[in-house]
Parts: sequence; C-alpha cells; structure tokens
Amino acid sequence: MKGSCLINSSIVLGLRIIGKGFSAGKKLCAFLGLPFLSKLAFRNQERKLLKATERVAQENINTALSEIKGSNSFTKCGISIDGTWQRRGYSSLNGCNYYGIAIRSNVGNLQKMMSSVIAAFFHCVSGKNNSLHGQCPEGSESWCRYQKAKAAGSPLKEIEQGSPNKIIN
Ligand SMILES: [Zn+2]
Repeated sequence: MKGSCLINSSIVLGLRIIGKGFSAGKKLCAFLGLPFLSKLAFRNQERKLLKATERVAQENINTALSEIKGSNSFTKCGISIDGTWQRRGYSSLNGCNYYGIAIRSNVGNLQKMMSSVIAAFFHCVSGKNNSLHGQCPEGSESWCRYQKAKAAGSPLKEIEQGSPNKIIN
C-alpha cells in the first residue's frame, strides 16, 4: 500500500473505531488545516475496509467451523446462534462467531456493520490486562458477557490473557 493510501485508510478506520464518520473527519482536518478526502473517496475507503474485515471474518468463521467439524461431538461447541446472541457455554470458538453475527445481522447497513465488526474485533482480543469492551453493546441483553455482567452490577473478571498488542495493532 502506498503511503498516502495507507494514511487515508488509517484515518477512515480510526474515525470509524471512535464512532465518527465523514463529517467529523472533515471538521477535524479543516481545523488542523489539512486536506481531507472527498465524500466519494471516504466511502471507497470504507468499502475497502469492509471488504478486508469481511475477509478476516470469513477466515475466522471458516477456522471456527473446521474446529467444530474436527471435534467429535457438537456438545463441545458452546455457541448459540438463535438470534439472542447468548453465550451458553465456554468455547474458544465463541468470539470468532461474533464477526459472522455482526455481519449477518447488519446486512444492508454499512455503518452499523462496520461498528459491529469493530466491536466484535475488540471484544475478541480483549483480555484481563486489556479490557476492550467499550464498543460492545451495553445492557442486560448484550451478547457481550462483560457488558451483561456490568449491567447486572457484578463486573466480570477477565481470565483470558487476550491477544497480544501485536495482533491488535
Ligand atoms: Zn465485549
């Protein structure tokens, strides 16, 4: 990727991660006296990022699926995909499937899909020394067990290590 392209992708991704869009980026750059992407270029960057996240999500889903297929018993799989996004067991496959849910439940809504995928990504890499559930939906109905526990008034203690920062960055 060329330097200027990388900066464009990075700024669009950065804005999306903090929950902002084209207008916020335009304002920020105007304030700093920097040039900013046209609306069309911004949307193109978003589309590229979406394709990349979709590809990663699909790879994750495929890995999770082959993990399930590889195990002898379906009872090992603690995922419930019944629309409630509830967690019914403990499985390393659980987090990966949030990407799939995030994508499938937001078809046709690029903005929502992006933020859901980003939330799922941060949720998946979150760990005990690095809690990253800020983008996860809040409340007792959340698919995120951290937010769910928080809503219930008994904050969850993360036990897993989480992904190393190298992967997150
Ligand atoms: Zn979470």
